[in-house]
Amino acid sequence: MSTGLISQDTIIALATSPGANGAIAVIRLSGSKAIALVNEVFKGKDLTKQASHTVHFGTIRDGESIIDEVLATIFVGPNSYTKEDTVEISTHNSAYIIERIITLLIKKGARAARAGEFTLRAFLNGGMDLSQAEAVADLIASNSAASHQIAMQQMRGGFSNQLKKLREDLVHFASLIELELDFSEEDVEFANRDQLKALIQQIHAVITKLIRSFEQGNVLKNGVPVVIAGKPNVGKSTLLNALLNEERAIVSDIAGTTRDTIEDEININGVTFRFIDTAGIRHTEDVVEAIGVERTREKMKQARLIIYLFDPTQDHISGVQEQIEYVEGLNIPFVTIINKSDLITDAQKEEYAVLNPIYISAKHQIGIEELKEELLNQVNLSNINTDDIMVTNIRHVEALQNTQEALEKVLYGIDNPITSDFLAMDIRQALHHLGEITGTVTTDDLLENIFSKFCIGK
Ligand code: GDP
Repeated sequence: MSTGLISQDTIIALATSPGANGAIAVIRLSGSKAIALVNEVFKGKDLTKQASHTVHFGTIRDGESIIDEVLATIFVGPNSYTKEDTVEISTHNSAYIIERIITLLIKKGARAARAGEFTLRAFLNGGMDLSQAEAVADLIASNSAASHQIAMQQMRGGFSNQLKKLREDLVHFASLIELELDFSEEDVEFANRDQLKALIQQIHAVITKLIRSFEQGNVLKNGVPVVIAGKPNVGKSTLLNALLNEERAIVSDIAGTTRDTIEDEININGVTFRFIDTAGIRHTEDVVEAIGVERTREKMKQARLIIYLFDPTQDHISGVQEQIEYVEGLNIPFVTIINKSDLITDAQKEEYAVLNPIYISAKHQIGIEELKEELLNQVNLSNINTDDIMVTNIRHVEALQNTQEALEKVLYGIDNPITSDFLAMDIRQALHHLGEITGTVTTDDLLENIFSKFCIGK
């Protein structure tokens, strides 16, 4: 473990979001001098003599001037988030008060905390492993029931517990094989190769499952990218508005006026769908329009789900089939929608029946609930159990993939005549990559990279 990031300073930051409209703000200090520093400016009980996890009313004073009436909550290390002495000062939420209190405490000897420094300390002091610390950031950012549940589960260690167990099993074998190296003259095998092979295969299977969970986990965390496509004027913007229930996209009678792609989100039963409205797909000579169309193709390829709209007042069944063939060629699940159902004739309805479409009217908000249900069906989340261990972090997936490669080398090594020292090396390599996830193996660069993405105060 690197130590360059460990600092003895007592750090201070606003823990609540700056500028928010709430009644109360919380200023947090962590470090060996946290309690004594606050005590110097706090008039009330002697905070240095109070038990952990107690709250005290008093005033914060700069000399004789009272800055605010506050509540100070005392956490005595190691029973705190950072494992250090920590004080949380609840003040009235005034930018002026906050600034004065922080400035005062910095004058007394605290240092302004860097981004993510509280959580970095929690990690460095053993309060949590790296994947748990990363989950804290995810938890704060979570905006749906599903992403919240995954982050919560990861923060509570579900994900890293499974990896720790795998790592321990591997460490055991690595040491047996390294022992063989000490006896290399005598040609002994402490590590039973069949057992080793069985273990590696078992770990390989678990990691494969974790890597696969990434796709689903990512969907739950970041939302399902959905493209609404179809020719100009079929009603894409109107549908987007109906789904978002707000007038966000520009609706117009002039074909092709929705030129820019607009991204927006809705939440259906805890699953986030990210909509990308587009200029529609069609061949065109118009340069500006062509950019929009090009972009539509690109967006459609990025989508995990396409809502393809037809307009019975302008689309004839032959043209419809041509467009459907194109969309099918993309190999992305799509929902066929006939919009403007208020204008459809019985004859057209018969024609369209072969497509098994959903009929909606975006303008009159008919069939929207049915469409939403179909969206949920299409992403098939019913078989995702958010209690399952799920990988949602690209850094973790990369480490798992590297682990997997090393494990495959080990398997090759067992079946082929390679020497124990090479086998041991490959196992160490797998251990290294597994350790990167939990933070057993880490560098200052990696930590700075992870924690700099946090906000100050976290
Ligand atoms: P886009 O170019 O695909 O984004 O199409 P718009 O959303 O701009 O809609 C084009 C025109 O069709 C507008 O005049 C809408 O009011 C109209 N429209 C959209 N949906 C419906 C519908 O369900 N019924 C009827 N009658 N008109 C609709």
